[in-house]
Amino acid sequence: MATLTCKNYFNGRWETGVTTGISTNPSDLDDVVAEYARADKNQTDNAIRAAADASSTWAQSTPQRRFDALDQIGSELIARKDELGELLAREEGKTLAEAVGETVRAGNIFKFFAGEALRQGGERLASVRAGVDVEITREPVGVVGIIAPWNFPLAIPAWKIAPALAFGNSVVFKPAELVPACGWALAEIISRATLPAGVFNLVMGSGRQVGQALVDSPLVNAISFTGSVGTGRQILKATAERGAKVQLEMGGKNPLVVLADADLELAVECTLNGAFYSTGQRCTASSRIIVDAGIHDRFVARLRERTAALKVGHALQRDTQIGPVVDDHQLQQNLSYLEIARDEGAEHLVGGDTLQRQTRGHFMSPALFLAQSHHRVAREEIFGPVACVIRADGYEHALSLANDTPFGLCAGICTTSLKYATHFKRNAQVGMTMVNLPTAGVDHHVPFGGRKESSHGSREQGRYAAEFYTTVKTAYTLA
Ligand code: NAD
Repeated sequence: MATLTCKNYFNGRWETGVTTGISTNPSDLDDVVAEYARADKNQTDNAIRAAADASSTWAQSTPQRRFDALDQIGSELIARKDELGELLAREEGKTLAEAVGETVRAGNIFKFFAGEALRQGGERLASVRAGVDVEITREPVGVVGIIAPWNFPLAIPAWKIAPALAFGNSVVFKPAELVPACGWALAEIISRATLPAGVFNLVMGSGRQVGQALVDSPLVNAISFTGSVGTGRQILKATAERGAKVQLEMGGKNPLVVLADADLELAVECTLNGAFYSTGQRCTASSRIIVDAGIHDRFVARLRERTAALKVGHALQRDTQIGPVVDDHQLQQNLSYLEIARDEGAEHLVGGDTLQRQTRGHFMSPALFLAQSHHRVAREEIFGPVACVIRADGYEHALSLANDTPFGLCAGICTTSLKYATHFKRNAQVGMTMVNLPTAGVDHHVPFGGRKESSHGSREQGRYAAEFYTTVKTAYTLA
């Protein structure tokens, strides 16, 4: 397949970088997906200045103008879903079906926020003082720095860029180094949406140079970050020091509880999807399967059988269910957790083998363990196709195991009991709950985010995105 040449986009122009990097196909290491421009701190600062210069023009643009731009971007993403989905699957390694689905989702997100640009409203209240009117309105924050991870290279940038632009902010977008071609393809579509020069900028490069420059720049008013807990904590400190607005979406170690009254096949299906689809590389993946003793042995036998039958292979092959691990670093991390699990006494049930396919790739069979809640494999985010089953004695025990984690992104339960489903929804210490559904797989028009170490700041997506991408003004007038 052809290698793409991907430039950065500053101030309405395509620019080469200071150096060039490459991205490779994790299903076929001999396939170079892209040669991309890598910016340094200076170039990033130039992009930030362009965004700052353009911000007042865009802040004053009409809602119709913003609607038209975002709607056009959304329509193009959806119209080109097959081609962009193929690029995504090729560069990131999720299966073609998952990648096409992600592309459509990104398009729908732009279309949702096109509508939000038109729906922006405020409040008008009577003052407590006679003859005074009070108006409450939302204004753009200014320049938003967007720092994205590799695992959803179209959808995550979309759910940050779309609300930023809809609410009148200018943007400097830094994709992850493993997926520059996806970031560039999205930028290329945005570049044709007739935004004023500087309103949207793409800067590719390292976290240390480009990411850090965004975080440290006094011209960047807000940072929206999705990535690991470690990076998120550094960003939190740096933005706190200079008083910038910040929103962090980080790791997860999401539980799926299976009660004795659950539909066995449905529970197994939810587990396979949540734990292993997208190669387990989802912050909402369910890696702790907490199973009531009443169904434990039957569930484990069926899950083991179904896990062993999953088809691991090249992301672009139609019958592949589990694509490759994204890179060698992530693969080695996954394998190291298998060792840790065995050393700590977890029982290895199936999988965890590196696999040879026709092309050289990072293929690994999904791994399943019987573990205890204190095992590291059951506590730390692995971000790969590795899941553990933990036995519980009844619902109360299962709930306490589900909440026994520093993370709080998503939690699921499989049950036919309304009483337990309702109690779980109210008492799981997370931002999102699922009943009889996989923990991964969310709608694009409702809030996304978690509690504890998983998230910091206001929610992303849906109407709640306005909290981050706008600032509130209260205006008093003597009538
Ligand atoms: P990462 O933290 O390594 O990188 C994320 C981004 O931050 C990249 O663009 C990277 O270049 C940049 N970065 C790195 N160092 C930086 C620095 N010092 N300053 C500024 N930017 C810097 O994460 P990753 O490996 O790309 O993604 C995997 C992680 O993302 C997992 O932990 C996963 O749970 C998390 N994730 C969370 C969500 C969520 O919504 N909660 C969604 C997807 C992924």
